[in-house]
Amino acid sequence: MDCKFVPAVCSYCGTGCGVLFEVIDGKINATLPMKSHPVNHGKLCIKGWNLHEYINSYMRLKTPLIKEDGRFQKATWDEAIGHAAVKFNQIKDQFGPDAIGVLVSAKITNEENYLAQKFTRAVIGTNNVDHCARL
Ligand code: SF4
Repeated sequence: MDCKFVPAVCSYCGTGCGVLFEVIDGKINATLPMKSHPVNHGKLCIKGWNLHEYINSYMRLKTPLIKEDGRFQKATWDEAIGHAAVKFNQIKDQFGPDAIGVLVSAKITNEENYLAQKFTRAVIGTNNVDHCARL
């Protein structure tokens, strides 16, 4: 049996607690708090303790999906991004940029949140951007 502990940062909220993934034979098996981490000092909330659960979940989305005729179809990233771009442009042309809003999340990084608001303002052309912490 090959067992190792891989350091990571919890992705469930913006606090950024340090965790150790217990990896057995290449599969993430458990999450432990990192005692030496300056943010959490060996503590985790209930979400952090269960961080490994979603990684191997059968419900996890692993590929983009495009809804066609009421059913989701697997797509490539290029297809999904191209589809979204066409739909955004159609909505903008028909209703104006303020018909679109973007919600960002504490589950993504600061840099990703920054890019999302920049995309909303500079590309879409609206200030309709908000964050899950205010919802
Ligand atoms: S363990 Fe809890 S408090 Fe820490 S980053 Fe994860 S969700 Fe946030």
